[in-house]
Amino acid sequence: MTVNIIEVDDLQAFYVLETVAGKKVIRAVNGVSLGIPENAVYGIAGESGCGKTTLLKALLANIEPPLRYFGGRVLYRVNGQYLDALALSPQEKQKLRWTFISYIPQGSMSVFNPVVKIRTTFADFLESHVPGRVRKELFQEAEKHLESLGLSPKILDAYPHQLSGGMRQRVAIALATLLKPRVILADEPTTALDVVAQRAVLQLLGSVQRDLKNTIVLVTHDMGVHAAVTTRMAIMYAGKIVEEGPTQEIFAHPLHPYTQYLIRSLPRIGDKSLKESAPGSPPSLVHLPQGCAFHPRCPYAFARCREEVPELEVCGEQKVACFLRRESCVAAS
Ligand code: SF4
Repeated sequence: MTVNIIEVDDLQAFYVLETVAGKKVIRAVNGVSLGIPENAVYGIAGESGCGKTTLLKALLANIEPPLRYFGGRVLYRVNGQYLDALALSPQEKQKLRWTFISYIPQGSMSVFNPVVKIRTTFADFLESHVPGRVRKELFQEAEKHLESLGLSPKILDAYPHQLSGGMRQRVAIALATLLKPRVILADEPTTALDVVAQRAVLQLLGSVQRDLKNTIVLVTHDMGVHAAVTTRMAIMYAGKIVEEGPTQEIFAHPLHPYTQYLIRSLPRIGDKSLKESAPGSPPSLVHLPQGCAFHPRCPYAFARCREEVPELEVCGEQKVACFLRRESCVAAS
């Protein structure tokens, strides 16, 4: 039986901005429910601005102004028991950060202090999370960890700017995995890297997951990356999950019209046909369209789509939020 290491139930987290024109509410995570399994690489896909990064912040229980919590729950399974992550005290969250759940942010440069060597960043990190150890011992531990990931310990003597973007990203992964967390949240870890560096980063994430048998939640707009490394995935559109299921099933039989566009726009070797992306652009998360948020771009939209919001419902091994699919699923079952 699959056990979920994280469960998300009807989560709502919005940015609330005070502007000269009045209050602006950006519905970045607008009623998300998910089960993220143990021992898996779980993907979250969708165009820029759909709420993926905000969802990761909420999974990390890091909801700070201007982001505000409006409802729902994020549950962590720690030592066989579910904890309400958003109700934990700052001290309790701090205890779980990096040991239970860690985070690789977008752009590895922000992880490192540009004026100190990587060695100091690793030692400071270990010192604050594993107190009472001498510095020499911490340096040795950092070296051992890098070696175990196939990285040269010499990297520790470099300044961040002396490393290539790809190498810096791999070192950021090494730092995030130093305390063997059960969950690693990775936000666009391959964006802005060339293909060779992308492959090295994905291979490293894959080997970390296999060694630790933990869960990696991988956020990227790149469907090719999801196809290559995730086992299960969710498609996000305008702050909601519109499709969820095993990656293989989603690529073989995408149910939501938006997922179909995302997959059709992927380049394939030898295929010279013009790639078709979704028409138009994503809606503003401040002024969401009434009904299904995808209806202004959807070629199959009908009257009901403009009035009601479709719920995420089970359809075979997948889940989908689309009135069209609901009818065909019911007919097929
Ligand atoms: Fe298209 Fe309607 Fe399905 Fe939305 S609910 S994706 S508009 S068919």
